[in-house]
Amino acid sequence: MAFELPPLPYDYAALEPTIDEATMKLHHDKHHQAYVTNLNGAVEKHAELGKKTPEELIKNLDSVPEDVRTVVRNNGGGHVNHTMFWQIMTPQGGGNPTGNIGGQIQSDFGGFEDFKKAFNDAAAKQFGSGWGWLVWKGGKLAITTTPNQDNPMMQGLYPILGNDVWEHAYYLKYNNRRPEYLAAWWNVVNWAEVNKRFEQAKK
Ligand code: MN
Repeated sequence: MAFELPPLPYDYAALEPTIDEATMKLHHDKHHQAYVTNLNGAVEKHAELGKKTPEELIKNLDSVPEDVRTVVRNNGGGHVNHTMFWQIMTPQGGGNPTGNIGGQIQSDFGGFEDFKKAFNDAAAKQFGSGWGWLVWKGGKLAITTTPNQDNPMMQGLYPILGNDVWEHAYYLKYNNRRPEYLAAWWNVVNWAEVNKRFEQAKK
């Protein structure tokens, strides 16, 4: 298989009580696996796609054969998005942002509380399925959202962090209360990993 599901970097129950074990099992083993399986299905039709990284595929969708372009967009996006998502969370997470990203959030949003409010508002308003993102744009931090499994890389932007607002990410525990999930999610954010991605975004 060209692409593989990366193992979770912690136990399914490790992010309790913020994210429950059943949600993590379904989300990783079923949803993320399905994106990987479907992406491999596209590679079966066009073997050359398997020589690229998932990031290369979604950054250059115009070069993907038309008959599998939507499949690659949705499932390549899903694979890249979730691979990031597991990494930017940790059971030792939360608290105030550390390092350079902490300073940049202070500069660009006036503080962590103001940043969280702006991010959570944007993500709450994303109609239907999608993601909320923090990106580096024009020399400063910016908040954006995408529908479905689209990734900011599709618009030439590198995502520093992103939160999944598909119902599968929160519905078992939070039901229809997406804002409650968004508020709690910061308790598991892995600021060390977010700092690594911030350095990558500035390159
Ligand atoms: Mn998801």
